[in-house]
Amino acid sequence: MRKQIAAANWKMNLTFQQGEKLLDDILIANIQLSNDCQVIFAVPFPYLIMAKSEIEEEKNYAVAAQNCSDQKPGAYTGEVSVEMLSSIGISHCIIGHSERREYYHETNSILAAKVDRCLEMNITPIFCCGESLKIRESGSQDDFVRLQLEESLFHLGPDSLKKIIIAYEPIWAIGTGKTATTAQAQEMHAFIRSVLSNKYGSEVAESISILYGGSVKANNAKELFSCPDVDGGLVGGASLVASEFIQIIRSLK
Ligand code: PEP
Repeated sequence: MRKQIAAANWKMNLTFQQGEKLLDDILIANIQLSNDCQVIFAVPFPYLIMAKSEIEEEKNYAVAAQNCSDQKPGAYTGEVSVEMLSSIGISHCIIGHSERREYYHETNSILAAKVDRCLEMNITPIFCCGESLKIRESGSQDDFVRLQLEESLFHLGPDSLKKIIIAYEPIWAIGTGKTATTAQAQEMHAFIRSVLSNKYGSEVAESISILYGGSVKANNAKELFSCPDVDGGLVGGASLVASEFIQIIRSLK
């Protein structure tokens, strides 16, 4: 079975102390994860080491960065390299969140370079894709998402692709309280898997976790995660509230 994953994306929220307390409040629930399940906390850079030490004793919990540089170490003021992340034991990194694509102009080709950089350092990219409301309303969401996958991932061989986690996040559902219906989520996840299968074969496509992101909450997680091609969620707002995120973790298949 492919991994079922609850990934928290804190974005640029919380002070260090609030972050530490949130992790304490979640971990105190003592949720034991089977090896088919994983919980990932994507926290701001200055909190990575703290979060790593918080989860140190926990099985199947991991910490992710929310971004990394597409460049090798050097004169890039303010950037964070995958070498830096690797040197503090970070195992995952979100790549291509729609906020990075929109506000920081990250293109599919920049994201392809970031994916490569992560894989070079054995860091698992959580690769985000998804369409805007305008694209959804024009009915071209499949072509749009296919292109995102083709331009950022399809240069990889099958063994590398297998190391990726994909997060489908329709932009119109992020932080809006508007969730894709289970039918919309399942349809797009099945489509993404078919795109992967056409290029890499079904064995590879079936092994890849595809998370849904976009206003996942305690009260809709179970239904969304029950879709056969939805392997958990990438969660923004609700991951900042311990009781919500605990319930979301408990909703994993
Ligand atoms: C996200 O940040 O990836 C996200 C899906 O946010 P939210 O859950 O708040 O919609």
